[in-house]
This record gives sequence, C-alpha cells and structure tokens, in this order.
Amino acid sequence: MARRLGRLAKEPVTSLRGIGPKKADALAQMDIHTVLDLLTHYPLRHIDRTKERLIRDLEVGEEAMVLATVRRVQFVRSRKGPPRVTVDISDGKSYLTCTFFNQPWRAKQLTAGTEAVFFGKLDVYRGKRQMTNPVVDLVGNRTGRIVPVYPQSEKAGLSTWEIGEWVEEALDRAGEFAEPLDEALLDRLDLPGRSWAMHHIHAPESIDDAHAARRRLAFDELLRLQVTLVSRKRMYERESKGIRHDVHGALVTRFHDQLPFPLTGAQQRAITEISADLAGPHPMHRLLQGDVGSGKTVVAVTALLTAVQSGYQGALMAPTEVLAEQHDISVRTMLAGLTVPDESGSLFEERPVTVGLLTNRTTAKERERLAAGLADGSIDILIGTHALITEGVAFHELGAVVIDEQHRFGVEQRAALRGKGDDPDVLVMTATPIPRTAAMTVYGDLDVTVLDELPPGRTPVVTKWLRGPGGLDQLEAYDRVRTEVAAGRQAYVVCPLIDESEKIQAKSAKEEFERLSTEVWPDLRVRLLHGQMASRDKEAVMSEFRRGEADVLVSTTVIEVGVDVPNATVMLIEDADRFGIAQLHQLRGRVGRGSDQAWCYLLGEGATPDAEERLGALERTTDGFELAEVDLDIRGEGTVLGIRQKGRNDLKLASLKRDREWVVRAREVAFEIVDADPGLVDHDVLKEELGLLLDEAEAEFLFKS
Ligand code: ADP
Ligand code: MG
Repeated sequence: MARRLGRLAKEPVTSLRGIGPKKADALAQMDIHTVLDLLTHYPLRHIDRTKERLIRDLEVGEEAMVLATVRRVQFVRSRKGPPRVTVDISDGKSYLTCTFFNQPWRAKQLTAGTEAVFFGKLDVYRGKRQMTNPVVDLVGNRTGRIVPVYPQSEKAGLSTWEIGEWVEEALDRAGEFAEPLDEALLDRLDLPGRSWAMHHIHAPESIDDAHAARRRLAFDELLRLQVTLVSRKRMYERESKGIRHDVHGALVTRFHDQLPFPLTGAQQRAITEISADLAGPHPMHRLLQGDVGSGKTVVAVTALLTAVQSGYQGALMAPTEVLAEQHDISVRTMLAGLTVPDESGSLFEERPVTVGLLTNRTTAKERERLAAGLADGSIDILIGTHALITEGVAFHELGAVVIDEQHRFGVEQRAALRGKGDDPDVLVMTATPIPRTAAMTVYGDLDVTVLDELPPGRTPVVTKWLRGPGGLDQLEAYDRVRTEVAAGRQAYVVCPLIDESEKIQAKSAKEEFERLSTEVWPDLRVRLLHGQMASRDKEAVMSEFRRGEADVLVSTTVIEVGVDVPNATVMLIEDADRFGIAQLHQLRGRVGRGSDQAWCYLLGEGATPDAEERLGALERTTDGFELAEVDLDIRGEGTVLGIRQKGRNDLKLASLKRDREWVVRAREVAFEIVDADPGLVDHDVLKEELGLLLDEAEAEFLFKS
C-alpha cells in the first residue's frame, strides 16, 4: 500500500539502520526527529558529477568543480588583513591551493584526508594557481552521477553524505508514496507524481529530474497553504451572522462633505468595496493595502462611522501608543461637529460622535469612565493599542473593527478583537505593500483592496543617498535641515538601529541627540524621542512637535509607523545600511505628507551588496509596490512570510520569488478543490497532510465534516 506521510511522521529516525542515539541527537539539533522530517530535509542543490574537472585542465578565470582530497591545512592570522585558512588539495593528479578568508572554522572542517568537492573560480595569486573562497561540499566518495547536497548544521557535526545515506534507506523503506492529487490535475499542471518526486528530489538521474521533482513538491507546499487559506476565507463567507450595516446613512455623507479635500478615486473605490461588505449579510474580512500617505485613515473612519450610523460601535487598534494617540487626535479632528441621535435624551436630541482612547497609559479613573461609556453605548469609537483586547474591555455592541498595521499583530489578536463583538466586520490595514503573489500567501484568507493612488499635489520626496561615513556629505543634509527650519518647516533624524534592544537604541539616540543639539544645531529646538521614555514624556514631545514648537525630532524607529506631521519636510536616516527596504520606505513616508517639497537623506556606506541595492532602490523610486518587488528579490520570502505564523514551516522548497506563477496556480486549484469538496471528504490524503504539515487544530476545525 502506498505510504502516507502520516505514517512516516510517526516513525522516529532511530528506526533507520545507521541512526543510533548519538546521531539522533545530532539530527534533533536540526529539528529532524521523524522519518518524515528526514525525507523533507531536501537537498540544497545537486552536484552534477559529470561536470567534474581535473585540476590540471582548469584555465585561469574559469569557474569549475573539482573533487579532491585535502592534503594540508594552515591557519594564518596576520596582523594586517582578515584571518585566512589555506588548504592544499589534490585530485590524485595535481595540487591546488584554496584560500578562505574570514572562515576560520574551515581549518576544523577541512582536515587532512577529507574528501570534498570544491567549486570556484581559478585565479592566480603571486604566480600560483589557486581558488579563493570556493564553495565546499563534503560529499565524500558517494557514487552516482548526480549527488544531493544536504543542508547540514555545523554544530550538529553531520555530513551531507551521512544524511544522504539515511535518506536513501528511508526512501527504500517507504516505497510508493500516497498521492494527494488526481491524475487529471497532474496532467493539466504537467507535474510528476508524488512518489516519483520524492524519490527524484533526493536521487535524481539528471538535473532536469531534480527540477521537475522540486516543482511538484513545491507545488504541494503552496497548495496545502492555499487550501487552508481558501477554506478559512470560505468559512468566513459562510458565517451568516454578520451585521447588515446601513451604508446610506447621513453620518457618513456628512463626514465626507466636511473633509477639507475630495476623496481620491482610489479612496472612493475602496469605500465602495468596503460598503458592499458592510451592507452584506456576512462579516467582512478585508485587507486594505495602501502605500504610506495614500489616505487609509479616511477609509477606515468611513467604515467605523458606517457602524456608528447603524447603531453600533467601532474600534480601531494600532500597534504602538504613539500611533494610537495620533489616530485619536486625527480622528477627533476629522469628526469635529458630527453628531448622532442621543439615545438617552429626548427623541430629537443629538450628541457629538464620541471617541475614546485606551492605551496602557490610560489612568484607572479614565478607564472606568471608558468602561461605562462603552457599556452604555455612549462611546461610539474606541481607539487604542493592544489594551483594546484585554479582558476588562466590553462593548455595548461592537459592529466594525479596524486593525492598523496588521503585520505587527497576529491572527490570534485579530480574532481577539473580533471576539469583542458578535461577528463584527473586520478591516485590516497595512502600509507595507507586498507583491501580489506574496499577498496571496500571507493574506490569502482575506479579500484585498488596494489604494493605488496618492492624494493629488504630493511632490515625491527627493531621496539622496549620502555615502561614506561622517564626511562632508553629511553637511549637505545638515544644511538642508537648517534651511527648511528657517522656512518654518520641521525635520526628523532617525538614529541607527544598533540592535534589537530598545535600551541600547535609546542610549544611542540620546548620544546623537546630545551631539546634534550642542554641536550641529545649537540654535534650533531639537527634541528627543525614544521607546524607553515614559509615555507621558513621549506624548509631550510628540504634541510639541505636532504643534510646530520643535524644529528637529531626533528619534529611534518609534516614529516608523503612521506618525503624521505634514509640516515636516526633511528626514535624515543615519546608518541607513542597517534598515530593510520596507522600513526605510515607512520611515521616509513620514515626510512629503504636505504639498511642499520634501527630502530624505540616507546616510550609509552601502557596505554590503544588499545594502547597496536597497539604498539604490530607495533613491530611485518612491513606489512602495516597486520597492516591495525589489525587497522580495533581495531577501527572498523569509521576511515576507515571517508576517504570518502558521504555514511558513511548510514552505521548504517553494519560493515566492521563483515560483510566482505556481502560487497563482495553487490558489486556483485550492478554490477548485475547496468549492467542490469543502470538507475534503474526497481528498483524505490531502486533508491528512494539512493537519500534519500546517496546523492540526486548524485543519480539524476547517474541515470537520
Ligand atoms: P496613510 O495611508 O499613510 O495612513 P493617512 O490616512 O495618514 O495616510 O493620510 C495621509 C495624509 O493625506 C493625511 O494628512 C490626510 O489628511 C491626507 N489625505 C488623505 N486623503 C486625502 C485626499 N483625498 N486628498 C488630500 N489629502 C488627503
Ligand atoms: Mg496610517
């Protein structure tokens, strides 16, 4: 009988012949516990032995692979220059020296007698032929033309050929694998069978076979994820308890009428889509993606007011205190003068739309007042941080929730906020654009609306990357701050992200603040903002800056999300090398929010090729979606996927970058499968794998028949 993955997941690796307790411990360090773990520990790449060359045939400048034995190793630590390991290797006919810089551990790895494949470019140093920093694979003396190279953990002390042998045994024992997909589908997608793929990813007869096998197994990973997401989406849609909000009420109309600007086309489209959801019988689960400054707040407030005019309350949850406080201010300003019927008064009385703010710094007394207002419905909109989902918070009737900057919240927190009402409508907002296929993977359970247009009259921020540490370059940026401040505008200085520790960041921000306020701009009103400050002080500094009573705000990345001070026109980002593209783009989004020309200076060396590409991209474009593509290209999907918590463990082979079209196909197939067979009754192999490789509890919940 064909072998199901579930069976293999129950067999410990020690059931294989070569694996005793010691090897099992080493494997455990690599998170390999079962035979299934081992079989899904896929090769990193394959070496085509037919491409092997003899050392003496190599030409200078040529990239080639040689199989050789280490004869001599030397560790050289010179006073100047990086530590260096030189390794003399021989293929039995001739010798070659390989030099490794900054890889001291090579001395331990490549001891005399070790057999390995060395892949690199032949060069000449002081008249001697050699390879510098070649790629090394310890394949040993394995036979076969195509040899898999397994990711190994240095720490675990296992070699790729040991792993290869165990995999071989596991494959022998497994025999045929159960097939989750039907033949017609595989034909249509031109994919090989599961069993063939499992065998050929590990032991292919040609590199093409290995590619075909990888394609199939990667598709399986993407499909499992999409089936879960699509099922969740369909389940949301089936929930019939949703609230039918009144989308034609007077409150929203008055709100739009009193805005100081007309809505952009994109905002109108977004509002139309959201209103349709709000009016419909099912709870909304929608993602609003919009670049920084695209005007998401107005859209969000429209959704909240739709709930309010329908007799419900709304909630807006933000990831940081600074952002929640700022939303509170801007929402109050936008809503000034708007009224709703006063239930407690006489029939025709009106009262102002009421907004409450709840964060960790809300006083006990204020909390009490909020609790009362929430309970009797006299608070219409509650804005806040995580504090919103704490136990004590109870609404009269929560009808719509907006979650800002979603990537900082998890699925559980989203659920917790929903749980504060009876299936309220949910709008998730993110200012981090991600490419379409990545969005399908990360937010595949939500409907997506994109705000793809900035309000008119924005002049794109001029971005300049000032290379070189501390040189004259920096003066250009300092001067710009000075001239802008002289013209009545304001500036941000973002301090380096030294490490994850808030404490250390705060310290460096303090030092930079000292330096800038005494040496560079002693005559300007320079202020400091960092995460370690007391909330009261943070808010004091922010409001001072908002009111224009401070010229320069020296800050850590606490200003990254959402801070909105249109009068700020210059930003300096120090040590920009250390930030990722998305973060730089977010930071830059803090300026250029008014109609005046704005500048962003990136100070950084571009010390690594990646950093160079990042800073170059920022300089070249202000389009968040374009930057997102670059980001995906540079970093791969790891970080993009890091956004969600479930499912990522299963994407071992699939790459959102390389397999874009397969993401789309997997999603299509997932819809076909789920819509034809919601409980996966006729897809029991697939169903079992979902529980196994994604999340058992969720699979159980989604596909209960
Ligand atoms: P984000 O999408 O980054 O959250 P905001 O909602 O904070 O953007 O809006 C950015 C700025 O643009 C705010 O100052 C807001 O008042 C302004 N704004 C929003 N919509 C429009 C519009 N249609 N026309 C002009 N300005 C707008
Ligand atoms: Mg915003």
